[in-house]
This record gives sequence, C-alpha cells and structure tokens, in this order.
Amino acid sequence: MSKNYRAELVGAFGNPIDENPTGVMEEAAFAAKGLNFRYLTVKVEKDDLEAAMNGVKAFNMKGINLTIPHKVNVLKYLDELSEAASIIGAVNMVVNKDGKLWGENTDGKGFLISLKNEGVSVEGKQVVILGAGGAARAIGVECALAGAKKIIIVNRNRERGEELAGLISDKTAAACEYVEWNSSYQVADGTDIFINATCIGLYPDVNSKPDVDYDTVKPGMAVSDVVFNDPNTLFLQEAAKRGAHTINGLGMLVNQGALNFTLWTGVEAPVDVMVDTLKKEFGL
Ligand code: NDP
Repeated sequence: MSKNYRAELVGAFGNPIDENPTGVMEEAAFAAKGLNFRYLTVKVEKDDLEAAMNGVKAFNMKGINLTIPHKVNVLKYLDELSEAASIIGAVNMVVNKDGKLWGENTDGKGFLISLKNEGVSVEGKQVVILGAGGAARAIGVECALAGAKKIIIVNRNRERGEELAGLISDKTAAACEYVEWNSSYQVADGTDIFINATCIGLYPDVNSKPDVDYDTVKPGMAVSDVVFNDPNTLFLQEAAKRGAHTINGLGMLVNQGALNFTLWTGVEAPVDVMVDTLKKEFGL
C-alpha cells in the first residue's frame, strides 16, 4: 500500500506577522479533524508579494491568508473575486482552485457570525461604525449586503470616510452617510448596533478608548469591538457600564478563521476547538 507523506499547505503572508496567532488556531482545527494540513506563518515584504503568490501556485498550496500590507495589493495576482471582495476591494484569503486563485474577504462575514451567535441580526437595523480602514470596509459592506437599513461611518480622515460611505451607497441597497470625527462622538438616535472598527485599544495601546460620549450608548444597544488583543477593551467596558450588550473581537477572529478552514478543506470547522485554542493562547 502506498503512503502519502505530502501535507496540504495553507498559511498567511504579511509583515509584521510574528505575533499573528491564526496558525495555532488553524493547526489545532486541522488536528481535531484529522486533516494532514500545515499552516505556515510567513513574513513577506511589500515588494515580494508577486513572488510569494507565484509560490502559492508553484507549491500547489490550497490557499493563503493575506494580512498587512497585502490585502489590497494582492488583487492584481488573482484570477477571480467573490462579490463581497470585489465591492470591498480587498481580500483576506485566497483559495487555489486547480491553479486559479480566487479571492474572498471573510473578515466582515466572520464579524456577522459573531453577532448572530449573540442573537444579534443586522437586518433592518441602524449600524454605526467607527473607522473606515480595512476592517471597517469589510464590516460595512457585509452589513449592507445582509440588509442593514442605515449605516453611519464615523471617521477622522474625511476622504477615507466619504469614500467608504459613497461605496456602500452606490453598490448596495443600504443608505449610508459619513460623519466627521473631530470631537467626542455622540451615538446617533435610533442606533441598534455600534462598532469600533479602529485599532484604538489594540495591545499595547490598552489604556486608550475611542473618543465617544459614552452616555449616548443606550441600554440594550449591541456594542462590538474588532480589537481582540486584549478582548476586554475600555470601549466595551464603558458600553457595558451603560447596559449595552457587548461582543468582543475574538468571535470575529475565530469565525473568519472557521470560514477560511472550510473554504480550504471543504470540511466543517471545529469552532469550539478554535475558540478554546485562542483563549488558551491569550491566557483567558
Ligand atoms: P486600518 O489601518 O486599515 O484602519 C485603521 C482605522 O482606525 C482608520 O479608519 C483610522 O482612521 C482609525 N484610527 C486609528 N487610530 C485612530 C485614532 N487615534 N483616532 C481615530 N481613528 C483612528 O486598520 P484595519 O482596519 O486593518 O484594522 C483595524 C483593527 O481591526 C485592528 O485593531 C485589527 O487588529 C482589527 N481587526 C480585527 C479582526 C478580527 O478578526 N477581530 C480582523 C481584522 C482586523 P483614519 O482613517 O482617520 O486614519
């Protein structure tokens, strides 16, 4: 009987990448499902992306995650894009389909699953998003595609904020407006879901919180943070003090990882194993 000594390869390309915990989570999931897959955490400089993507094909890798600074630049090396990825204009994962590279963005989808797991649906809701960077773009577009009624983008840089609001208004059915963030933000009346999609509060900046008038956060409002390191951000602590339903960034991280797992392997992801592995990794 012939044996197969070859593992299927996936991984992540980025820089900085050393502190990215995704590989530990995915490898634990492969082991739990008895899959001979390896997840490689690879440092790839900005100018080396073309060579690295050729490597994905040359090594017959099943796919790859992209992180800073490659999420937009990688588009020119892909053969196909999902609908969401083409609207967002960025991908965080690629599947190698028999030599053709297909790009998808699972950040926003993972975020929506983390809300759903907490009993929160975006359909017909008013959503306020702080930030207009990569995470905010993915979340904003997915909320719109999932039927949010109105989306308000609150961002410091006007150009970036207006660009995202215009994109959502033009390409989806949701109404979207931009609000400049130049003083303490007062959460708009009628808001159901309030999201921090900036990096404020990300380790080591754990003593910072977004400049918000937290007394405008209403009891029962769903308040979520994309920051997962440390997951108990000051933003969420302030919202919890006002009676909000808080949802931390670990759910988004796990669920985008679970979607990637399934897209690469065709197997349902062992989400519990992934959650436990990440919690252990963060000492929770
Ligand atoms: P980007 O660099 O693309 O965007 C950063 C955003 O934060 C911009 O809108 C920027 O505003 C805003 N911002 C940064 N500092 C400040 C400040 N002091 N005051 C006001 N606004 C500020 O980053 P990403 O979108 O890629 O990442 C954002 C966060 O999302 C990171 O913490 C990342 O770890 C997290 N993330 C979490 C994921 C998860 O699975 N939980 C997945 C992906 C990302 P401006 O435009 O004005 O500069």
